[in-house]
Amino acid sequence: MTVFVLDKRGRALMPCTEKRARLLLERSRARVVRVAPFTIRLVDRLLEDSELQLMRLKLDPGSKVTGVAVTLNGQQGTKAVLLADIVHRTEIKSKLDARRALRRGRRQRKTRYRKPRFLNRRRTEGWLAPSLEDRVNQVMNTTWRMMHWLPIQAVSMELVRFDTQALDNPEIQGVEYQQGELLGYEVREYLLTKFGRTCVYCKGKRGDVHLEVEHIIPRSRGGSNRVSNLTIACHTCNQEKGNLTAEEYGYPEIGAKAKAPLKDAAFVNATRWRLYHRLQETRQPVECGTGGRTKMQRTQHELPKEHYYDALCVGASTPSAFIGIPKMVLTLTVKGRGSRRMVLCDRYGFPRGKAKAAKRIHGFQTGDRVRADVPTGKYAGTWCGRVSIRANDYFDIKGPDGVMAQGVSWKHMRVLQRADGWHYGTKPTA
Ligand SMILES: [Zn+2]
Repeated sequence: MTVFVLDKRGRALMPCTEKRARLLLERSRARVVRVAPFTIRLVDRLLEDSELQLMRLKLDPGSKVTGVAVTLNGQQGTKAVLLADIVHRTEIKSKLDARRALRRGRRQRKTRYRKPRFLNRRRTEGWLAPSLEDRVNQVMNTTWRMMHWLPIQAVSMELVRFDTQALDNPEIQGVEYQQGELLGYEVREYLLTKFGRTCVYCKGKRGDVHLEVEHIIPRSRGGSNRVSNLTIACHTCNQEKGNLTAEEYGYPEIGAKAKAPLKDAAFVNATRWRLYHRLQETRQPVECGTGGRTKMQRTQHELPKEHYYDALCVGASTPSAFIGIPKMVLTLTVKGRGSRRMVLCDRYGFPRGKAKAAKRIHGFQTGDRVRADVPTGKYAGTWCGRVSIRANDYFDIKGPDGVMAQGVSWKHMRVLQRADGWHYGTKPTA
């Protein structure tokens, strides 16, 4: 993994390798600032005396996982310095729904005779659903921290799935569009969005996952290559249809659907736009890419479909070759800082068990990264991981695969890093 390096006053310098970090620490030229992700501070260096190279943060926002990549432009070429996945929370909507149901039930029982009050809230302009707003916040939080740890001077993000202007008027675009390859990717993304990512003929019932761009009136019968004559079909249906038009094949409605332009709402993604506007707060230039371009560039680099590789291939600034790609991926999982709920409820909404206990016990908090040296018993040995505190002073230590050590006394533990609402892990690249 890349090691983040800060100067004497805690400002970001160029990152270094683990080996170099070890040497710096051995020679007492550096101190450890964070354990995960590993960050050191040089005690004898100032930002003013250091040379920086251009680093770019690249983002591919997704609904469950957002891909993150950081690249460095050096003399020899462009290198990928960091690959990361932000694993978002997925339970927000279901939790809010559960709370709403409990409160409804309670109102029914307790205040049946009170006049209903409803529609008495006004949403602010540009309101996003809590689950979406949360996702934007998580990406912004990561952006700010990356900028704190690395001297980032440019940002790229995937804003839209495809470029609508390029579809209307390919001639006015750049050289890449004239060559046609990028346009092909944009057209494919457009069609996939428009026809819902399934075969228009069998609706996926034939189980053929290999989707192809298909001519409604075949080329051999004088059909054009325009998007209004194109649709998405699976390989099986495409072969069977052969030289027939969609109407002859038994689908007269497809032609009209292909001619109708795609409604704005279908491809303007509110979350991505919100993120784009929030990224302006960083005061760094923000480059926008399309999903079609990302896919083309990832295919050209022969990289598998992973969120972090998508992020690496976002935008026109992506080079034709990388001189290095990391072997490990950082996973940033959102854990939160505990629950606001004061007491657990049973399924009727009645309090169950005791009221919430203290959040901190003997200076430990759930989510802290700890090291425990257990002298005796079933869990004798050394353990490092996330701690879950208990009111009885005996805590659990969790690793990436669940509980590692159970019921360990707090007296054997010390904190390596305070909880900050995130879990930091690593995994090898695909
Ligand atoms: Zn089909």
